[in-house]
Amino acid sequence: MKTNILGVGIDDLTLNEAIDAGMAFLEQDTFHYVVTPNPEFILSAKKDAVFRTILNQADLALADGIGVVYSAKILGRPLKGRAPGVDFAQGLMTRMAHTGQALFLLGAKPGVAEAAAENLRKAYPGLNICGTHDGYFKEDGPVIDAIRAAKADVVFVCLGAPKQEFWMTENGPKTGAKLAVGLGGCLDVFAGNVQRAPEVWQKAGLEWLYRLIKEPSRIGRMAKLPLVLVDAFGARLGGK
Ligand code: UDP
Repeated sequence: MKTNILGVGIDDLTLNEAIDAGMAFLEQDTFHYVVTPNPEFILSAKKDAVFRTILNQADLALADGIGVVYSAKILGRPLKGRAPGVDFAQGLMTRMAHTGQALFLLGAKPGVAEAAAENLRKAYPGLNICGTHDGYFKEDGPVIDAIRAAKADVVFVCLGAPKQEFWMTENGPKTGAKLAVGLGGCLDVFAGNVQRAPEVWQKAGLEWLYRLIKEPSRIGRMAKLPLVLVDAFGARLGGK
């Protein structure tokens, strides 16, 4: 059962439960996809019904941002906590390094996915990264073919939202992979181009502030985010 946060269903799972669920998808033969909504997703989904449907039909929707957790609290439907996409990805890779399932990295600027693959192979000895592709391609066909030829079990789709969610649902089943995960800017983090906030900041729910300090140009995007909390208050007062 998903928790409805302003029209978007979120799975109320701890990070470990989410990783278990992700690994369980790999035991099945059908295609599954995972989304990692943050407040920006919820605001976009409010205006874009197709995006909203894609999020709501995901096999797993994880509370990526602290804003989603706060909104849930305001709505009176508290979640167990955050399950950030980047932590979910790391948990999957830890397990996949033992199971041998193949991972394909798709997205980011040319060269970034390769650099990420190099770092990840060192960080997770035994991890089978079967291929990479940048996220600035014009035609889907060759990318689908590359993933299929690499025999990927899992694809990290890092094209930014909502592009990656549209891509996963339209093309994911054609790749032959069992699982696609939409992970935004994760490859930039794995490549070492973007630093995550230190753990104390993460625990304090201030990862967004750290990111803003590091990338002040995000202020325009971030300024809209409190709107999600305002919406949550409005919905609570309206009894929704
Ligand atoms: N990106 C891409 N193709 C595109 C647009 C964006 O591969 O057509 C990549 C971009 O290079 C970055 C990621 O998608 O690596 C999106 O990063 P952003 O910071 O927007 O994502 P967030 O982590 O905030 O979801």
